[in-house]
Amino acid sequence: MFSLHGTGIGGGIVVGRAVVLESRLIDVPRYRIALEQRPAELGRLDRAIDVVRLELANLAEQLPADAPPEAQALLQIHAMMLDDPSLVEQTRLAVESHGQNAEWAFFSQVEHLAAQFEQFEDAYLRERGRDLTQVADRVLKALSGSGRRLPERPKPGDVPLVFIAHDVAPADMLHLKQAGGFALDLGGTASHTAILARSMNVPAVVGLNTGSLLVRDDDWVVLDGDAGVLMVAPDEIVLEEYRHRMLMGLLERKQLERLVHVPTATVDRVAIELHANIELPAEAEQAMESGADGIGLFRTEFMFMNRDDRPGEDEQYEAYAAAVIAMRGRPVTIRTIDIGADKPLRGDDEGHDPAAAANPALGQRAIRYSLAEPDMFLEQLRAIHRAAEHGPVRLLIPMLVHGHEVEQSLRLIAQAREQMSVRTRRAAPEVPVGGMIEVPAAALTAGMFARRLDFLSIGTNDLIQYTLAIDRTDHAVASLYDPFHPAVLQLVSQTIRAAERAGKPVSVCGEMAGDLEATRLLIGMGLRSFSMHPASLLRVKREILRCDAARLRARVSRLLGSDDPVKVQAGLKRLREN
Ligand code: PEP
Ligand code: MG
Repeated sequence: MFSLHGTGIGGGIVVGRAVVLESRLIDVPRYRIALEQRPAELGRLDRAIDVVRLELANLAEQLPADAPPEAQALLQIHAMMLDDPSLVEQTRLAVESHGQNAEWAFFSQVEHLAAQFEQFEDAYLRERGRDLTQVADRVLKALSGSGRRLPERPKPGDVPLVFIAHDVAPADMLHLKQAGGFALDLGGTASHTAILARSMNVPAVVGLNTGSLLVRDDDWVVLDGDAGVLMVAPDEIVLEEYRHRMLMGLLERKQLERLVHVPTATVDRVAIELHANIELPAEAEQAMESGADGIGLFRTEFMFMNRDDRPGEDEQYEAYAAAVIAMRGRPVTIRTIDIGADKPLRGDDEGHDPAAAANPALGQRAIRYSLAEPDMFLEQLRAIHRAAEHGPVRLLIPMLVHGHEVEQSLRLIAQAREQMSVRTRRAAPEVPVGGMIEVPAAALTAGMFARRLDFLSIGTNDLIQYTLAIDRTDHAVASLYDPFHPAVLQLVSQTIRAAERAGKPVSVCGEMAGDLEATRLLIGMGLRSFSMHPASLLRVKREILRCDAARLRARVSRLLGSDDPVKVQAGLKRLREN
């Protein structure tokens, strides 16, 4: 038995049999083509490319109705790569002038281009290199005449199948929908594959490097999507332990499902709202299934990432409207783009990349970026207001620090509504506007934001990063990233009180909201609205149903009086225990 460690995408535990998918770009034949045979060889190349074009068009047509909308766009990107002169023309040239066979010429060109993508520091540009190799894989298979081996759907009741691969094209991943889970060598948390995996809600681990080479077809495997571990050929004792854990997980899930329709309230009858965080509109379904009161955070920047162009107003409107319609009357909080820092944008018209700054987390990120690009911001604001014609929408502005950012945003919102009314000759819907409190400066002046806006939402992920000076993406300092540092707790509590005083709703939408260790603490601070990944929602609900809000308020206020991290930790432990 051995274990491989990667990045966990979530989804729990699965014990099953490995299905190792063919790795890409292997055994490329290399031989010389005689001068008179070269036109025929070019014809063979063209036919293979046509086959792949047709294959992609068929895949696009057959996409299931519930496929994430990204899948359609990805297939288009793949089809466009087949028209890229740096790929196809250079390959033709190598056949014509150097007499390389089509596979050899094509593979060399792909390797050359892929190596260029590899050089990019920007993770999103590197990711585009993967798109290229996925398309190349299809062309090479078409040239060799071999069919693609797509994962088979497991029959219900079978041992779960865990798909292991170097990489899986997002379109092929849709075939994994009924699979027990998957483990991939490539990808990070923000890769296309990871984004789709999350929306499919199966255990998944990415970034296993060369792990797929070490697993054999039909090996027993344990995949822990939460811990990011793949155990291969485990002993019977380990298998039994994980089968037990998997069963307990399924049992817990079943028990939790009974809570879906139970109103969320503490034992002393304080009502609590539980909302869901989503990155793609398709995830709204999962939010509904978990009984969410609405979407508390729609991270719209994911729609802008990993592409060369910018989504236009209509495309954005369709995505926002899809989420609003899926939520059937429950509110959807749409956050304007939070581009920059660990979420860079590509294909910017000005060639400007905010993430390329020396210190991108402190640079032109989120609302700073939107205000610097008013045309783009207005486009997004119009799309959000158009979506509001389908149901209740709330607009959320990320990373506020200054009062003038609120004023400028409100002015642009008024301008976007005005543009819409001129266009449609009727009044644009009015949408509540809230602000994210994610920076200590904003938390310390939260009253000013609460008075100017309709609601506040605390982004603890960034608030912790900026308060403790810990880069949230840097493994070297990850152990110092402490959500329960007294400074963080004071800022969160202070923000909740400022909103209470202003009579405005306040929510927490960072990871802290879905952390069971923080539930009692936040209720004790007076928080009445949480927003988290839908998978955490029912567990948090179960904890809330056991809380006594009045008792917690008194206990938490004593705990917040201390500035000593050790005492605060001890107090938190007691709070969680009884
Ligand atoms: C946060 O910072 O807590 C937050 C919710 O925003 P994001 O994680 O998208 O930066
Ligand atoms: Mg944030």
